[in-house]
Amino acid sequence: MKIVRFAWQGETRYGLVEGDVVYTVEGDPFGTLEQRERIGTLPEVRLLAPCAPTKIVAVGLNYADHAAEAHREIPTEPLIFLKPPSAVIGPGEKVAYPPISQRVDYEAELAVVIGRQVRNISADEALNCVLGYTCGNDITARDLQRQDEQWTRSKSFDTFCPLGPWIVTHLDPNDLSIEGRANGEARQRSRTRHMIFPVPQLIHFVAQVMTLQPGDVILTGTPAGVGPLQRGDRVEVEIEGIGVLENRVV
Ligand code: MG
Repeated sequence: MKIVRFAWQGETRYGLVEGDVVYTVEGDPFGTLEQRERIGTLPEVRLLAPCAPTKIVAVGLNYADHAAEAHREIPTEPLIFLKPPSAVIGPGEKVAYPPISQRVDYEAELAVVIGRQVRNISADEALNCVLGYTCGNDITARDLQRQDEQWTRSKSFDTFCPLGPWIVTHLDPNDLSIEGRANGEARQRSRTRHMIFPVPQLIHFVAQVMTLQPGDVILTGTPAGVGPLQRGDRVEVEIEGIGVLENRVV
């Protein structure tokens, strides 16, 4: 299933996509969900971010080649930080380049969308609490990240968490190709099997610390090849089995 979120008749609604047709649903993706009426094709429906997380838990340095390019040791356990829900934007929305930064980078990442409330879950059971997967871009003000002792400011600007275009359910997250592009040119190319801590371990680790709610997102880290964006650039994240998340920088 491909689950979308969109504005329709003044309300925010969940829907399903089949081919390029968008349907409304009865219910919600965290309970039961039944396909109802056709409302249009993808180009006609403006998609929102596919979920509304209460928190985004992001993982730093989860690919060895990215840790190397950042001149950092490979972590011995997942290194987590938070991005605020106010940073989330949807597919096609604009990333706003902050005036107080001179270096803003893309980071293509697999985003895990949690399907039910969970606290303390074993890695073996962890995938059972996942609704599905979408593309994420952990936009980062790299100069501020280097300047500050921690990452809150550099990772938290409004618009710094593009998610989308939809949530794909029943996807095996363990070996998907992931690509980050700027203006159509591939800059990051890897596979999710190169994660230091794979998805089940990440969920287990995070759920030891905090209760995960339906719609919460875990951003699973970015592979090597991160680099700067300029105003006017088109940035894309493509993940096998999901699709392409595209945003422009203004
Ligand atoms: Mg990241």
